Amino acid sequence: MNWKHKMQVLAGAAALTLATGLPIGAQVSPATGPGIPGNPSLIGDTSAVAREAQGWLADLVRIDTTNPPGNEQATAKYIAGVLEKDGITPELLEVAPGRTALVARLRSTAMADPARALLLVAHMDVVGVDKSKWTVDPFGAVIRDGYLYGRGAIDDKGMLAANLAAFIALKRSTLHLNRDVIFLATADEEQGGDASIKILIAKYWDKFAAGFALNEGGEVVLKNGKVQYVAVQASEKVPVNVAVIARGTSGHASQPTKDNAVVHLAAAIEKIGNYSAPVRFTTIVRRYFEQLAAVEDDEVAKWMRSLDTADRGEHAQKVISDMSPLWNSMLRDSIAPTMLTAGVRANVIPAEARAILNIRLLPGDTITVLLADLTKLVNDPQIRFEVQPDAGLAAPPSSLESDFYATITRVAGKEYGDAPVIPFQSTGATDSAQLRLHNVQAYGLMPFPLPAEDFRRMHGDDERIPLTAFAKGVDVLARITAEFAVMR
Ligand SMILES: [Zn+2]
Repeated sequence: MNWKHKMQVLAGAAALTLATGLPIGAQVSPATGPGIPGNPSLIGDTSAVAREAQGWLADLVRIDTTNPPGNEQATAKYIAGVLEKDGITPELLEVAPGRTALVARLRSTAMADPARALLLVAHMDVVGVDKSKWTVDPFGAVIRDGYLYGRGAIDDKGMLAANLAAFIALKRSTLHLNRDVIFLATADEEQGGDASIKILIAKYWDKFAAGFALNEGGEVVLKNGKVQYVAVQASEKVPVNVAVIARGTSGHASQPTKDNAVVHLAAAIEKIGNYSAPVRFTTIVRRYFEQLAAVEDDEVAKWMRSLDTADRGEHAQKVISDMSPLWNSMLRDSIAPTMLTAGVRANVIPAEARAILNIRLLPGDTITVLLADLTKLVNDPQIRFEVQPDAGLAAPPSSLESDFYATITRVAGKEYGDAPVIPFQSTGATDSAQLRLHNVQAYGLMPFPLPAEDFRRMHGDDERIPLTAFAKGVDVLARITAEFAVMR
């Protein structure tokens, strides 16, 4: 639909509200009213609010929220200022000393049903930077060649600014809501520590209790300038850190011994590093590969379709796993050794050597079973495993049959040029797991069309977002929110 038509429909909607003072939906028959399925005009033209949001994004990037320490309070105060300008009164929620989340609400009725509410959630903290590897100031929000550069530009300040824009656009539209829409900015997502959403929920659940949520965790995959597919995250793997501890006899390094803890640890890590856990298909992963096969090259698609077959399954699983670390990790529990510590002096054989394994379990798998397999694999009485206390919790997947999933699929499919919308189980963790544990149907949609090359900069150097992708993301988020929450 062109711009002029959108404005006409919006003007018509505003006139109806003025004339009657009643909800638009009560006045207009579904066959002709704004916002009927297939009519993208509900929220009108978002280009103006997207331009404003680009300014908010730049300001958000300039507030350094590297976690630790996070410093989210400064961001929360900034967002509060933006909301207040539009007559919205947010609430700052102290999660831990000096660390703050922010919540704001657009009400549908005086006594809204929390189970119907829609939560727009994004986190304010970012991971650290290696400044020497960046070509621009990571906290400068430099705009160059159509990109905004900065730590958090895609993870997750882009979505934070886009959520803010969708929320404010809805407020400005004065459309009547059929459910409350809640804006939530969380702290401490990257570390999952004392100020994370887990603590926020424990302290303040009533402030943002909702039945549905939209968060990061999905992906709009751009290939050769076209959206190839949209991945909507409905489940995620469960992170567990495990220490591998080797014990031996300490002594003078001039007289090496067979039970040297360093040697035993190295041998164990070598075996673990080359181990592939068995493949198990979750419902979402099965659907992901089935639907992705439709848009992949013939050769790749052929293997994807063979993944779960009796005759060629095993070989297909190997081919697909070798093609992509993401696909490999989606199919099985994954294990990445990430840290090694041993020794105090060059001439002392240490009594102990340690490694850390970062494990991502498929939802439903347990660490006990995996560690039993690893114990057998390593087969060394000098080695033991110790599960670290910071493990994530497995959450049930969000439903692929919910009204909200249907809305996301319908709007995203149309807005991204009829690209297929595919359910996705992310290998990384998000705040959505905690929400799912509280019966929230949470979905991940990073709404910015990004080529793989830009997507990989997340947590990396020269993180950036194309300005056109940002504006598109604002538009799609605003449309999904309006389609789901505006009364018809
Ligand atoms: Zn993130």
